[in-house]
Amino acid sequence: MDIRFSAEGEAFRDEVRTFIRNNLPDDIRDWVAGERIDMPSEYQRRWQRILAEKGWGAPAWPKEHGGAGWTDEQFYIFERELALNDAPRVLSFGIQMLGPTLIEFGNEEQKRKFLPGTLRGDYLWCQGYSEPNAGSDLASLKTKAVQEGDHYVINGSKIWTTEAHHADWMFGLFRTDSSGKKQEGITFLLVDMKSPGLTVRPLLMFEGTHEVNQVFFDNVKVPVTQRVGEEGRGWTIAKYLLSLERFGTAEVSRTLATIARLKRLAARIPAGDGVLLDDPDFATRLADAEMELRALELTELRFLFAPPSPETGGAEASMLKIRGTEIQQEVFGLTVDALSHFSLATTEIEPGSLPPDLENEFMRGARASKVHFNFRKTSIYAGSNEIQKNIIAKAVLGLGR
Ligand SMILES: Cc1cc2nc3c(=O)[nH]c(=O)nc-3n(C[C@H](O)[C@H](O)[C@H](O)COP(=O)(O)OP(=O)(O)OC[C@H]3O[C@@H](n4cnc5c(N)ncnc54)[C@H](O)[C@@H]3O)c2cc1C
Repeated sequence: MDIRFSAEGEAFRDEVRTFIRNNLPDDIRDWVAGERIDMPSEYQRRWQRILAEKGWGAPAWPKEHGGAGWTDEQFYIFERELALNDAPRVLSFGIQMLGPTLIEFGNEEQKRKFLPGTLRGDYLWCQGYSEPNAGSDLASLKTKAVQEGDHYVINGSKIWTTEAHHADWMFGLFRTDSSGKKQEGITFLLVDMKSPGLTVRPLLMFEGTHEVNQVFFDNVKVPVTQRVGEEGRGWTIAKYLLSLERFGTAEVSRTLATIARLKRLAARIPAGDGVLLDDPDFATRLADAEMELRALELTELRFLFAPPSPETGGAEASMLKIRGTEIQQEVFGLTVDALSHFSLATTEIEPGSLPPDLENEFMRGARASKVHFNFRKTSIYAGSNEIQKNIIAKAVLGLGR
């Protein structure tokens, strides 16, 4: 299936594709194409700078802040071409989440101070929302910020903080008042990760990757000038930012690219008298996954380009997140099955036991189980899939209102 765009859209697609082919550094392309998960922060900064120099670093921001002024079709094509051509997406925390939030709720000084550096990739951000006892029930957060003169003093801890070990800044939610409803008394602050009293400790993922952390605050001082919006009004800002996070988690185009890689791989793996791609069981599972993905792709396009439907009640992002992550997990599971025991990082391939080109594929396969286990995270983060189902139940079925 080939999605057809308008004539301008087709011309734009060629422009984006050519730009990526000519400007994406080989080391970064290889990293993405190899389905590697722990991308070095230097790669993220470098690619962000390349995009920013072209004027594509933060396409969704308003033009006055460096945005691209694109149509919805152009945004869609841009994201899709990044995925299909093995390029990283624009920075998620700084560009997709914090930038639009600062533009909406920040003051002029904060925009001047943080937006240009974020756009250029000089500032990497992390998200300090979750706490050991506040995940799905985020409003229960307890990490305290107490105002003392022109500073807040923070004590407590944030957990599961992705990229905190690379980040220059954190945007986070802190408790400034416990007297009222739990959604009240939450304040949105920007924290310098080099602040004295702030410690980042790694939490290793099940498969051994260092991606998330626990961050401890021991009398960390944050200037009041780094508060976004009013004190105690952080919940509104947090919800705005989370609505930005939930779009884009379906990763349809990235999974299309993964399926294309899996097909190339299965076409070279011997099975019976032929190759795995022609094995009826494997081919059926692959076709099932691809059909599900294509159906989701159409759903995504419908949500993006058709008039809003009253039937969805605003739960589109939740639906896309659930199906997108389920299919993504299925496809990585299939890759593990395709590579059988070679998908385990511990498997030794005896030199000469496979044709050299295939041997390279199998070596790459040694990462497959790692990615498979790592991607269990997708149904937990950005609002767990169970919570997304609750949202759909309320919005579409009218349950629990
Ligand atoms: C890899 C990874 C990266 C992350 N990165 C970040 C980050 O950068 N910044 C950040 O702030 N947070 C981050 N998180 C945290 C993430 O947002 C939380 O893990 C998530 O919101 C779930 O919260 P919890 O872990 O406290 O689980 P809990 O909320 O304790 O939930 C435990 C289980 O119960 C289910 N459950 C809970 N409540 C309900 C309910 N009402 N109905 C039905 N089922 C329910 C959940 O779905 C889950 O299966 C990350 C998490 C992961 C795994």
